[in-house]
Amino acid sequence: MSNSFLDYNFSQAIDEVLASLKFEQPTAIQKEIIPLLRQKQNVVGISQTGSGKTHAFLLPLLEKIDFANEKPQALIMVPTRELANQIYQNLKEFMKAIPQLKVSLLIGGKDLDESKIIASQLIIGTPGRLFDAMTTRHVLKVDQIEYFVIDEADMIFDENFLKDVDKIMGYFNDNVCFSIFSATITKTMHPFLKNYFENIKIVEIKGNNENIEHIIIPSKGQDKYQTLLKLTKVIDPYLCLIFASKKEDVIRISEQLNSDGITCIQLHGDLSARERTKTLKRINNLEFKYIVASDIAARGIDIDGVSHVISIDMPKEIEYYIHRSGRTGRHQYTGISYFIYDNSDEKSIKKIERKGISFAYYDFSKDGLVFAGLRNREQKTLKQDFVNPELLGKLKPKKKEQVKPGYKKKRKQELERIRKKAKQQEIREKIRRQKKQRKNNNEDSFK
Ligand code: AMP
Repeated sequence: MSNSFLDYNFSQAIDEVLASLKFEQPTAIQKEIIPLLRQKQNVVGISQTGSGKTHAFLLPLLEKIDFANEKPQALIMVPTRELANQIYQNLKEFMKAIPQLKVSLLIGGKDLDESKIIASQLIIGTPGRLFDAMTTRHVLKVDQIEYFVIDEADMIFDENFLKDVDKIMGYFNDNVCFSIFSATITKTMHPFLKNYFENIKIVEIKGNNENIEHIIIPSKGQDKYQTLLKLTKVIDPYLCLIFASKKEDVIRISEQLNSDGITCIQLHGDLSARERTKTLKRINNLEFKYIVASDIAARGIDIDGVSHVISIDMPKEIEYYIHRSGRTGRHQYTGISYFIYDNSDEKSIKKIERKGISFAYYDFSKDGLVFAGLRNREQKTLKQDFVNPELLGKLKPKKKEQVKPGYKKKRKQELERIRKKAKQQEIREKIRRQKKQRKNNNEDSFK
């Protein structure tokens, strides 16, 4: 399979955009999905957020659109307006390079520009809005739609959007190519997939994001908030997302942190659309280092540069832990996902481990956080090159104004250097321990 985007023979405009984005090689999901969508194969793509799945479907769609035809040709359905906006932002680069490309957003809180919808080749929308535009307002004609994409599908099916999706499906022609992207295939998706797709290929990008270190911080009978506060004192993140399952906890924790001198902002489902947009803007302007968020509010939102994630509790659905940690370590960057643990979390941690994620224990010492061992002895070899989280803090830009476009690359190089150094230290330590062990054994055998 191809290793460079140039081998795909995309149009010059697409190649130029990829070059300007500095995308040289396709990610694993892109390598799998692009050729399939080019052949109009129905497909379910299972991969974590941050794996590059947006471009996995955008690139073949953009390639297939007939720009001379000002009619909707591709439809992308997403669960939230933020995600719709995010995909739209991704498309802006392409719109600059391809002036004939017209894209419409069909989301809540936005007036429908009917003439624009009619003349757009690509439509992105939330289920209710799409359905409304198709059936009640009759402004969205789907007779020329060739691609229908559902992104973050597990959330669409969870959120009882299923009946809207079901109805929408009935409007398409037989030749429409369907693609569904999700971090997991949930039970609610099974009947839907069975009903609609005789011939659907499932592409699963296995393996967890190796850029993410999963670390357990035991709360040792202390209130978890106190452990969280302690943690914020020893890490120095570039951007840190703190997750709590319940909205009330999000509010409580963020208020407590603010009164304890850790400035943060909250992101939960009760914020109005305006407040949410404003909050995201402030986050992306790097006004805060800490964001306290609920699972739903943070789903699918691409907050750039998250270096740390902290879970103060276990989400109801184990998959959400994967979504939480997937906010960091995006694409080529490294990140740390902390879990503040007490004994009641043991069962859930085991479930997560069964999904292939391995945790290391870290503990507080007078010097900050120290490595305190691995949960699973068998995983030792895999986890030897852990990154010392204390060192990560050294990578933050000194001042906000200093954030330059190339900072991520530099951060990555810096991390590589630190990772190597930490590994060397770990190996030296291991040799020292082995020598000591051998010496002890020899002394014992002479006794
Ligand atoms: P996604 O999973 O689509 O949200 O993508 C995660 C991040 O990876 C986004 O910031 C993308 O811009 C970036 N990305 C996607 N594909 C590539 C690629 N082939 N090379 C480098 N970065 C990419």
